[in-house]
Amino acid sequence: MIRGIDHVGIAVKSINEAKKFWVDTLGLKLSHIEEVPEQKARVAVLKVGETTIELVEPTSADSPIQRFIEKRGEGLHHLTLQTDHLAERLKSLKDANVALIDEKPRLGASGAKIAFLHPKSAHGVLVELCEPHE
Ligand code: ZN
Repeated sequence: MIRGIDHVGIAVKSINEAKKFWVDTLGLKLSHIEEVPEQKARVAVLKVGETTIELVEPTSADSPIQRFIEKRGEGLHHLTLQTDHLAERLKSLKDANVALIDEKPRLGASGAKIAFLHPKSAHGVLVELCEPHE
């Protein structure tokens, strides 16, 4: 079952620069910053009510976030929906011919299990499914 929006990911060149708008000007609260080596990225988690915005900064030239910024500039990168039973859900999406980037869950920020669906199956949106760490 999809439980809600977990977070929205925004690709930024620099968390320090982006913070000036999102935190200092807009007034969102910075929860924490963490390294996500699997995605070659650093993530700043901003609290927005029940959900969060993640500012995602590449930490290496071959990071997928770096390639995204080079192609399309900074901006909305992905939408993350919270689900239960992620592995089973991926299986049933595959059976329904949804294009998957990850066929199996992998480790994301905060110990959550995550997987990405291909934008071509989601009307141009990079969708991340996440099963939060208990
Ligand atoms: Zn994310």
